[in-house]
This record gives sequence, C-alpha cells and structure tokens, in this order.
Amino acid sequence: MSATSNLKALHNSQSIGSFDVPGAWASTPCPHCGGNQALCVAYVNEGGGGGTRWYRCVTCLKGAVKNDEIVSPSAKPLRTPAGLPPLDLQIWTEVRTCLGSGAYAATVMLCRKLLFHIAVAHDLPAKNDKDRSPTFYEAVEHLQEQGLVTPKMRPWVDRIKDVGNDANHELSPITLELATDVATFTEQLLVLAYELDALMAQQAGHDGP
Ligand SMILES: [Zn+2]
Repeated sequence: MSATSNLKALHNSQSIGSFDVPGAWASTPCPHCGGNQALCVAYVNEGGGGGTRWYRCVTCLKGAVKNDEIVSPSAKPLRTPAGLPPLDLQIWTEVRTCLGSGAYAATVMLCRKLLFHIAVAHDLPAKNDKDRSPTFYEAVEHLQEQGLVTPKMRPWVDRIKDVGNDANHELSPITLELATDVATFTEQLLVLAYELDALMAQQAGHDGP
C-alpha cells in the first residue's frame, strides 16, 4: 500500500465543469468561512464508510481534509458578530479555534480576558482606586451599568467568574459544556457591545439620502 493507492484525484487537464466523479461536489461545512459547499479535489475510499477526502471550499477557496468523519482543521463553533474592532476580532477568532479544537481551559481564559477588554473599551478605568487592574466583579458591574450585561445574563456571569478563576489559579478540568456556556455568553456580550451599533449604522446608511 502506498500513498497513491486507490487515490482518485481531480486531474489538471480536466476542467472543473466536466469533473463529474460522483460526490465531487459536496455539502460540507467549511471550517474557515462557514460556507457549506466544497469541491472534493481528491479522495480515497477505504470501504466501510472510511476514507479520506480533500476539499476546496467554493466560497473562500481554502482547503480542508476529512479523515473518516473528522474534518481538519476543525470547524469553528458559534459565529462572529458584526462590527468587532480588529483586536477583539482576533481574540474572538482564537476563542472559536480553541473551542473547536478541544482547548477548553484556553477558551475560558481568553473569554475572561475579552470581558475585561470590552469593559475597559466601554469606559471602565484601566486602573481602579487601588491603582490595580479592575477586578472581575468591577468589570461585570460596569458592563451591567452600561447595559451590556442584562439581568438575564447574570447567572452566566457567575458561571464565567468561577470557571475563569479555576483556569487562572489551579488546574481543574473544564468540559466542553462549560467552555461552550462561557463562549456563548461572550458571543452575546460582543453582540450587545458591537454588533447592534454596527447594524444600526448600516441601517442608517441605507436610509440616508
Ligand atoms: Zn470556506
């Protein structure tokens, strides 16, 4: 068995339009852009449903590979709210990458950091009256005063507080469910902090002269 055994590939001389190998066009989620249509550039069937398929996304043109049922790179869960400043966007993308690849403690720590960052970006002084960085409590209180943490989000805040502390001070297991809760809360925070304003601005642009 060699690396070329049973390999079926899209040949250079064939135009894409005439590429009619069964299953060449696949409905598969793109881990890069969230699109759901891809060209299968090559595949190996191992029988019994196993095998390897190399995909190119028709939307963003990036590649992904599916070994049996596992897609690499892994799909990023949740979504990116509109209107994020570049730094927030970078960290939020890392959060989604961590969550999608099973790095749950890293997910929670980055979410906590993002929460502090959003609070400071929304006028929380970077130093408190003891000349220290604001505490988690101060950051959350500030976000609540600004209307960015709503009463319904409060139970989640308590969760992110405890989980985030664990991640910072000691090693304790963080499950997919916990990390997903914390990340979902953070997504909601980003929506309230940035996306609503961005959508309003967009709408005002459409309604303008
Ligand atoms: Zn894509």
